[in-house]
Amino acid sequence: MPRPPFPTNVRQFQRQFATEEACQEYLAACRWPDGFVCPRCGHRRAYAVAKRRWQCAECRHQVSLTAGTILHNTKTPLTHWFWAAYLMTTDKRGVSALLIQRQLGLHRYETAWLMLHKLRRAMVNAAREPLHGEVEIEDTWIGGPQPGIKGSRQLKDRRAVPILVAVERRDDRSGRIRMVVLPNFTAMTMTAIFKEHIAPGSTVYTDGLKGFAGLQAAGYRHIALKQPVRSALRKGASSVVPLADRAIGNLQHWLIGTYHGVSRGQLQVYLDEFVFRHNRRKQPMAAFQTLLGLSTGRTPTPYRRIRGGRDMLKLLAEA
Ligand SMILES: [Zn+2]
Repeated sequence: MPRPPFPTNVRQFQRQFATEEACQEYLAACRWPDGFVCPRCGHRRAYAVAKRRWQCAECRHQVSLTAGTILHNTKTPLTHWFWAAYLMTTDKRGVSALLIQRQLGLHRYETAWLMLHKLRRAMVNAAREPLHGEVEIEDTWIGGPQPGIKGSRQLKDRRAVPILVAVERRDDRSGRIRMVVLPNFTAMTMTAIFKEHIAPGSTVYTDGLKGFAGLQAAGYRHIALKQPVRSALRKGASSVVPLADRAIGNLQHWLIGTYHGVSRGQLQVYLDEFVFRHNRRKQPMAAFQTLLGLSTGRTPTPYRRIRGGRDMLKLLAEA
């Protein structure tokens, strides 16, 4: 049973995952890319006995297609889950619960909200390998008055939150990114965050006016350059951290366009969503499977090895 091809557009997606049965087949193909293997006796033949449940033809051991995934015991149709995960991984704007509710024709907003919440949790758990090589770091404020940024009036009247943005330089392009809400600016906090997200020995670029003094001591090669003033930047002077600046601009744009501002408590979750989509923009299938928890040992992101995976299973059990 070869792993089914991943749809490259919405029409293909809707055709491929039009029914509950089609979704179940996909789950089975992800779980057993080389065909069914009974986890108890190793037998290779099984049949479906119930919704999302297979039984070994030899020892009668039953296996749930959704065990260990975000879909386990859900009352929501798989077709809904698949569509929500697909939108979340492929639509650059991201999706709101309201959009999901409308697109799926759900009666209850809460159903859509809960689905998105679970999918976002999978995104939080997906960040693992620290950035390395050449990394740009920049801090910024989200949710306060932001001079020079379009739509800033929508951000006013909210308490601004400081965040740290880190971007890998791959030649002149962005590699992977990280975005973290900063609880404060103490050296201890900053160092802990650097160490969690950037591999030791990396070369870190910052703008010289900021207090990134602890970087060298934390084991990085720190290159601080003086950033041109804002008016010069607007006239085309090049930023010393251009990739980080672009990531921040894209983030701001996305937060305003999709969510009309985000509360302080929720901000990290949205940052994780933005980062998840950015870091997997070239692997939509892996992103889709990661979100639904369908990754097998063959893919780069096996579900059980995802940091915090246990935490997620607990959450799912409660929902
Ligand atoms: Zn068996």
